[in-house]
Amino acid sequence: MSDPKPFRYDTEVPPGQTRHLRYEISETYLGDPVEIPVTVVNGEHGGPTAFLSAAIHGDELNGVKVLQEVADRYDPAAVHGTIVCVHVANVPGYLAQQRYIPIYDQDLNRSFPGSARSNTAERMANVIYERFVRPCDFALDFHTSTRNRTTMYHVRADTSRPEVDRLARAFGSNLVLSGEADAGSLRTVATNDGIPTITVEMGRAHRFQPELIDRALDGVESVFAEYGLLPDAAVRWPGWTRVVDGNGDKKWLRADTGGLVEMQYGPVPLVYEGDTICTVSDHFKEREKRVAAPFTGLVIGSLQNPVAAPGHPLCHLVGVDDATLREIEREIDAGEFSERPWV
Ligand SMILES: [Zn+2]
Repeated sequence: MSDPKPFRYDTEVPPGQTRHLRYEISETYLGDPVEIPVTVVNGEHGGPTAFLSAAIHGDELNGVKVLQEVADRYDPAAVHGTIVCVHVANVPGYLAQQRYIPIYDQDLNRSFPGSARSNTAERMANVIYERFVRPCDFALDFHTSTRNRTTMYHVRADTSRPEVDRLARAFGSNLVLSGEADAGSLRTVATNDGIPTITVEMGRAHRFQPELIDRALDGVESVFAEYGLLPDAAVRWPGWTRVVDGNGDKKWLRADTGGLVEMQYGPVPLVYEGDTICTVSDHFKEREKRVAAPFTGLVIGSLQNPVAAPGHPLCHLVGVDDATLREIEREIDAGEFSERPWV
C-alpha cells in the first residue's frame, strides 16, 4: 500500500482532510471571477486518485446531485486515496441552465485539454484539466441526455482498452456503449493521457431522477471498491451486461413524416422485431405512420417532445443477443427489471 500524499492543485490538501473550495476558471463580462465548486477528499491512507465531474453540459443535473452526495458521504479516515469532485464544470451554462457555454455557444466537452491562449471554452477546459484532471488516476464524467430527449442509464467507454474496460465494468451498469468519444471530449483526452475515463449517461436534462442517482452512487462506490479506495466495500455486478461496439446493432430511428408522436411500447423498453415502437400522425388522424422495430432490442433513448419533422430522431434502439434477451425476459417475469427511464 502506498503512503498518503497531499493532493496538489496550486495549493494542497493534506491527507486526512476534506476541503470544499471554489476555484477560478474564468471571468464574467464584469471582470468578476467565474469559480467552479470543487471538493477534495484526501484519505488518511494512500491509494489512487479518482476524478469525478458533472455539468460539463450546464443543464445536465443528475450528476450534480451524485457529486453532492459523494463529496459529503466519504470520511477521509476511511478513504485509501483521494476523491476529487468538480461539482459543476460549466458554470456559465449551469447559471443559464443550458448545455453550452452561453458565450458563442461553445461546447466545453469539445474543448479539452484546452489552451491558456485560446477561446473562452478552451481556457476554462485547460484550467480544469491541468489543475484537477491531470493529477488523477481515473475519471468518471456524468451526463444526461440532451434537452427534449431521455436516455437509459448506461456507460460510454472505449472498452477495447483494458484499463477502461476495467473501470466500465466496475461501475456496474447493465448497458455499455463502447467506442471512442468525440475529439476534445474529457473522456477522449484523459483516456489518451493514460487516465482511463468513462462517461455515465443517465436520464433527462433539467431533472433530479432519484432512482438513477441512487444507482450512480452505487456505481461510484463499486468503482472505489474495485480500485481499493474503499477496501471494505464490495464491487457490484449487474445481472446482465450488454456491451455494444461501434455502430453494430444500434440505430437511431427517425421520422419520415411530420406530425404528432405517440410512443406505443412499454412500460419495459424491450421490443421485438416488427413491434410498433411509435406512431407519427397528422392532426386530422387521416395519416398515421407506424415505426416498427427493425430488430429485437432495448429502446435506450427517446424523444420527450412529442412533435416531429421528417428526419427527427424518435428513439435509439440497441440490439440484444439471445443470452441477454433470455436474462432480460427472466428479470421481467420476476419483476426485477428496473430500466424505467421514461417516467
Ligand atoms: Zn452531456
